[in-house]
Amino acid sequence: MKLNKNFELIKDNYLFHTIALKTEAFKKENPTADIIRLGIGDVVLPLTPHIVDAAKKAADEMASIETFKGYGPYRGYDFLLNAIVQYYQDNFKVDIEPDEVFTSCGAKNDIAAILELFDVSNTVLIPDPVYPAYVGANIMDGRKIIYMNGTKENNFLPLPSDKTKGDIIYLCSPNNPTGAVYTREQLKQWVDFAIKNDSVILFDSAYEYFITEDLPRSIYEIEGAKKCAIEVCSLSKTAGFTGVRFGHTIVPKELKDLNNRWFIRQSSKHNGVSIIVQRMAEAVFSKQGQKEAKQNVAIYQENANLMKKTLKDLGIYSTGGTNCPFVWFECGKDSWKFFDNLLNNAHIIGTPGAGFGQNGEGFFRFSSFNTPENTQKAMDRFKKFLKR
Ligand code: PLP
Repeated sequence: MKLNKNFELIKDNYLFHTIALKTEAFKKENPTADIIRLGIGDVVLPLTPHIVDAAKKAADEMASIETFKGYGPYRGYDFLLNAIVQYYQDNFKVDIEPDEVFTSCGAKNDIAAILELFDVSNTVLIPDPVYPAYVGANIMDGRKIIYMNGTKENNFLPLPSDKTKGDIIYLCSPNNPTGAVYTREQLKQWVDFAIKNDSVILFDSAYEYFITEDLPRSIYEIEGAKKCAIEVCSLSKTAGFTGVRFGHTIVPKELKDLNNRWFIRQSSKHNGVSIIVQRMAEAVFSKQGQKEAKQNVAIYQENANLMKKTLKDLGIYSTGGTNCPFVWFECGKDSWKFFDNLLNNAHIIGTPGAGFGQNGEGFFRFSSFNTPENTQKAMDRFKKFLKR
């Protein structure tokens, strides 16, 4: 038996695991400290009433022999695929077909699993800074990664140039951690590049629901994208599903043989999403579900506004927050040192920019996923912390 040697190339624990370990150690030493978590992007507001009703109804159906359901269709039930198709039509004016939609237990699973469709000899382009899961998944598979620099100068939105080379391109828009969102013109450059170079774009739209400006929420808003892009999305942040677990992946039928191959992969390795969760997801995509989701998201957006205002008042450069639940700001040279200082002195957990890639060093991320009360308290403490 030989081990997968690629794991030896993974330098550190997964970023948020490291943060959890540091937090645990701090708590052990300071058991009474009132820690405020603005670190891992995990929601705090409970599921909304319409979703909970759907869960209860689905559970009741499972309790009766007439309505009980066993294994479901691999892609997901038609009621849900149709609800997602309708969501794309209503919100993005994008036509997709039900058999282009694949439901999943969340975006993180699919972002990594979809790589099985591609040979390990492919070169992967990954923005830096970005959500760290893309990097780990590709290192474990043994693919060559080329990082694309996201900097203050390019508004953290790397674009292709004449020299760009890459077979698999990850785009995260709105970007975690910087909150940067590609415009339609910029995404068109990526779509044109991918078509010209026979590359595939893996478009992560986990935060599309937070976009407040006139910016693309789906890559399929861009002409030609169906020929070159797979879109991965999630209800984790849209509707508080981080614990429930639900996402969907769109694999267009125009994109080589990938729709067919992803179906083969899914039917071989995946037995579908829980029926109860599918009913809950259907409820999210309904009119009432959307109304309730927007109310929760508005609370997080207000938190982000407060963070941005606080940073501005303190004269600190920040970005994000307007179209994304993350606020990204300059913190001095060493972001892990800033993390430790902030935890030790203000009992606030944030995320050091270095954890999102080399270009993240010198920056820090606050997540707006908390209550307004805690956010206010955290910002008051933060001001005092900086004025020490
Ligand atoms: N994609 C991005 C950009 C994320 O930031 C996250 C979670 O933080 C995910 C995907 C994971 O989503 P899910 O909870 O659906 O696995």
